[in-house]
Amino acid sequence: MLKEIIDKFYLDKEKFKKDQTSFYISEAGRCPRQIFLKFKNAPRKEFEASFLRLFDHGEHMHRLIMKPLLSTRDIHVVASEVDIPPQEIVRGRADAVLSDGKELYVLDIKSMNSMVFRTLEVPKEENVLQLQLYLHFFKIPKGLLLYVDKDRLGLKEFIVTYDPKVCESLISGLTILKKQIGENIVPTRMPTYPSNWQCRYCQYKEVCKVGEPGEMKWEKLKEKIESLAKEG
Ligand code: SF4
Repeated sequence: MLKEIIDKFYLDKEKFKKDQTSFYISEAGRCPRQIFLKFKNAPRKEFEASFLRLFDHGEHMHRLIMKPLLSTRDIHVVASEVDIPPQEIVRGRADAVLSDGKELYVLDIKSMNSMVFRTLEVPKEENVLQLQLYLHFFKIPKGLLLYVDKDRLGLKEFIVTYDPKVCESLISGLTILKKQIGENIVPTRMPTYPSNWQCRYCQYKEVCKVGEPGEMKWEKLKEKIESLAKEG
């Protein structure tokens, strides 16, 4: 009885999400075709309720980590849950900006399961890219990626230094994608399709497969999707 009620809560929350109108900073380095299809509300494989609950779980982890940071004098939390300055391309909220008395750091907290945590020796690329954009928009040269093992509550941290070239390339990629969305041009598949990890977890895998590997008109892909739905 309760399972159905709780599952429905999460599934409805996902179903009635507002249409996306700008990029999220967490999409830095993501497959442009996947983001395009999300903007166009293309048919997708829905997440299971248990997976959606994990997002909430992640938020609790963040609060757990912030509690000692907010009460210690060894580090100063300058701001928490801080939005990046408004601009046209992307929006996002960093977990915190910290000061050790000498330098400022943008903090980004990520939680993961024990299996992934145990083998983590360097920060994940997608997390570094996201943090790079925080550093860029906050104009802070250093960031901290703090990983939490959500099963055993272990911690690992990595310092990331601002790289303007990486940010330039990320922002230029998003600018191109914004244009493609406006002009209804579906971006090319990832060069490493379908073995890339993003393809394995992609909600738009089926739609992507019926499209052409390179750029194509959204209208043409929509027709293919519609005829597939009729067959199916
Ligand atoms: S399947 Fe791979 S290439 Fe296709 S949209 Fe998804 S992530 Fe991108």
